[in-house]
Amino acid sequence: MFGPPGAGKGTQSHLIAEALGLPRLATGEMFRDHLQKNTELGELARMFLQRGELVPDEVTIAMVQENLARESYTAGALFDGFPRTLSQVEALDRLAEALLASIQVASIVVPDDLLVDRLSGRTTCRAEGHTFHQKFNPPQQAGVCDFDGSELYQRADDRAETVRNRIRVYHHQTAPVLTHYQRQGHLVEVDGTVPIERVTEALLEGLKGVRNDA
Ligand code: AMP
Repeated sequence: MFGPPGAGKGTQSHLIAEALGLPRLATGEMFRDHLQKNTELGELARMFLQRGELVPDEVTIAMVQENLARESYTAGALFDGFPRTLSQVEALDRLAEALLASIQVASIVVPDDLLVDRLSGRTTCRAEGHTFHQKFNPPQQAGVCDFDGSELYQRADDRAETVRNRIRVYHHQTAPVLTHYQRQGHLVEVDGTVPIERVTEALLEGLKGVRNDA
């Protein structure tokens, strides 16, 4: 699942993973989890997350490989936020080949001028990374996640300055990944400016092939 920060990637990846019965593998959440637990990997990633930059490929790829080796994903997995560079694409291709798995890519498209607004009012749940927005998608009870009751907080990298850098990074480093998958005919693009339910419908429609394969 692809999309610039604020496109609704996290919201949709939860909904789509549930609809398709797939486990979610969200690299940003994994890094935030390591940060919170003060692990060695968290320390390594801290500066990059704070600046809105990408964590180096070898660190990110090792973390994903380690997760894939530890958990069993026999029905597949939904990756949220990975791969974000062409080196990560190569690593995922190798993993998919070894697992005899195919890759389908969905991208949520939202113009840049809407993204900063969406992120500045966003809150994220501590337990599982569910996201809400004070105006566009408020929780039933302020400060509490509708899904698991955990606390909602504002991510440090959702501040306006860092958000702008994350959007820049997305266009420079992640756009080539989309071009790569488009050339392979594996890319589904959906309009992320319509209501949440309609984005989900469009994604499910676009990813039909995935459901049939599962
Ligand atoms: P996200 O939760 O997907 O918005 O990611 C938050 C932050 O985690 C990013 O701004 C990066 O610093 C880091 N990150 C997440 N996924 C990756 C990735 N695939 N490669 C490098 N850095 C990543």
